[in-house]
Amino acid sequence: MDIFGNLSAVQQRIHQAAVKSGRDPSAIKLLAVSKTMSVGTVEKAYEAGQRFFAENRVQEWQDKVIQLPKDCEWHLIGRLQTNKVKYLDERVTLIHSLDRLSLLETLESQGAQRNIVWPTLVQVNIARDSQKAGLLEEEVEDFLTEAAGYKHIRVYGLMTIGALNASPEDTQGFFRQLRLLKERLEKKTLPHVNLKELSMGMSQDFEWAIQEGSTIIRVGRQIFGERIDTTNEYIKGGR
Ligand SMILES: *Cc1c(COP(=O)(O)O)cnc(C)c1O
Repeated sequence: MDIFGNLSAVQQRIHQAAVKSGRDPSAIKLLAVSKTMSVGTVEKAYEAGQRFFAENRVQEWQDKVIQLPKDCEWHLIGRLQTNKVKYLDERVTLIHSLDRLSLLETLESQGAQRNIVWPTLVQVNIARDSQKAGLLEEEVEDFLTEAAGYKHIRVYGLMTIGALNASPEDTQGFFRQLRLLKERLEKKTLPHVNLKELSMGMSQDFEWAIQEGSTIIRVGRQIFGERIDTTNEYIKGGR
């Protein structure tokens, strides 16, 4: 796997997509989604200059964070179980999947106990896909109003996953909808809520996401190759 070559290809595509839509390429953060990949594989991306990584399993993140250099930034994506919150700490740069009240409450109580303020994004199921997590568009405003009352939570933006098997037009439409939602809601002044980030775009659709204003893209397969989820490289390696 030519991770160095893959990374530079992705960076080039980010650059082109940004320029095409009149955006500054440096305003788009590339997260390398390293879930299921071994520490050695993640190290290759590090050696190629990548510093921002995203994981979806707390246990895997815990193992990797101690083995990779300290200047890595770690993001959490994917459903976060409330009973895993106790394993998180300040080494998590951003939780992308705040999607329900019970998680809000658990983060708050853990944050209060341990004096941690959690940086989060609210996950929105913009495609209204029953297979996917996230709040429905019409639920987001009330949720943010609720979150504003929690001292140990900061909401920095919105996150979504594009619909699987959707046409390019539909996908771009979903990303646009999320941007419009953010633009509408950022006008409300709520304490602890500062909607600046839009986490949207993955391997198959990040260029459309950039055209629609994405500030964080989450790319796995285009950097690390296909994940063979049944023989998780990470678990196979004995961890
Ligand atoms: C796995 C995952 C990604 C990366 O997907 P690729 O198709 O490998 O780029 C991005 N976001 C979330 C939430 C994921 O679970």
